[in-house]
Amino acid sequence: MDLPLTDEQMMIRDMVREFAHGEIEPYAQDYNTRGEYPAEILKKLGGLGLFGMMVPEAYGGAAAGAVSYSLALQEIARACASVAVTLSVTNLSTEPILQYGTEEQKRKYLVPLASGEHVGAFALTEPEAGSDPSSLKTSAVKKGRSYVINGTKQFITNGSHAGVIILIARTSADRNGCSAFLIPSGAKGLRVGKEERKMGLLASNTVELVFEDCEVPAANLLGKPGMGLKVALGALDSGRIGIASQATGMIGASLSEALSYASERRQFGKAIIRHQSIGNMIADIAVEHEAARLLTWSAAGLKDRGVPFSREASIAKLYATEAANRSAYRALQIFGGYGYIRDNKIERIYRDARVTTIYEGTSEVQRMVIARETEKLA
Ligand SMILES: Cc1cc2nc3c(=O)[nH]c(=O)nc-3n(C[C@H](O)[C@H](O)[C@H](O)COP(=O)(O)OP(=O)(O)OC[C@H]3O[C@@H](n4cnc5c(N)ncnc54)[C@H](O)[C@@H]3O)c2cc1C
Repeated sequence: MDLPLTDEQMMIRDMVREFAHGEIEPYAQDYNTRGEYPAEILKKLGGLGLFGMMVPEAYGGAAAGAVSYSLALQEIARACASVAVTLSVTNLSTEPILQYGTEEQKRKYLVPLASGEHVGAFALTEPEAGSDPSSLKTSAVKKGRSYVINGTKQFITNGSHAGVIILIARTSADRNGCSAFLIPSGAKGLRVGKEERKMGLLASNTVELVFEDCEVPAANLLGKPGMGLKVALGALDSGRIGIASQATGMIGASLSEALSYASERRQFGKAIIRHQSIGNMIADIAVEHEAARLLTWSAAGLKDRGVPFSREASIAKLYATEAANRSAYRALQIFGGYGYIRDNKIERIYRDARVTTIYEGTSEVQRMVIARETEKLA
């Protein structure tokens, strides 16, 4: 299905598709098998300007917009979902700086993110605060012209490699009394804790971040005191377009893997795609791919037009991530026993897809957002 894209959007999509095909796809399996952070690939992505796609030119970005960014992310995720999430979380970190940062904060923290000099991280989740961030305990206490931070953040993507971390911490006792902070890497009192051993996304970095009397200047407050949850939830609205794009790319990968295998593999004297049950599974993946593309494009388009997109971002995230799981399941089924064997790309996609319905808001949380926003429309 042709989407009504501008010449520039098509040019960006085609350029990233070529890059992903030549520079990510051939190496993705090895990085994932070794569980290695793909630093070389990320360096090249930075060189192409893909980390600053949503950042204005004044801060070294390409200002390409949400639709272009989504198309680029889909192409990258087709080749490697780990690389895609690394990029998506960096983008999640640029958004709040752009929206709430002072001029000085933008120059200091946004410019190196946009250029790809380093990746970013977004630290909201804690061991006892996941879907309900208002219960977070990490504290930031004002002491003269500094804040002293104590607490532990859990499951932080890019946490070991980030040049800057957007941290949400409690600054007052009331339930919503949280604030956002910019924490530079290497800040005294910040320690990278255990690296998680995950089911999938094995080439992405997921760690615990431990803050022990970590002192940062009060100038590192992002936005005003008490705005932390607003900053976080606003960033997650945009982040959900990123995860919907990642999932859509993964459906595309499931489709092309399934299609080429089903056309080659022969049983009962014909290519298995000629057996109706297999053809039906290919059709179902194709339908879900088109639906996910449309929903994601629609949410990104609203963002580009500067109109509210929270409901549509959640709809796209919910649909695309659940469809990515169904599609990977069907595609693996089409591969039969070979799909279950390590080193087969579909086995990796199947594992990688699982977390997409969990991070940046579980499917249950998306349904809560969609219900709330839909009620407002009535
Ligand atoms: C690989 C990976 C990377 C991640 N990266 C980051 C990151 O970079 N930064 C970050 O801050 N976090 C990150 N996370 C954390 C992720 O966002 C959380 O895991 C997610 O928000 C869910 O929180 P939880 O795991 O504590 O589950 P819980 O909130 O404990 O939920 C458990 C179950 O209960 C359900 N549930 C909870 N509340 C409700 C409700 N009100 N109604 C119905 N059902 C409910 C949930 O949907 C889920 O099914 C990452 C997680 C993973 C696995």
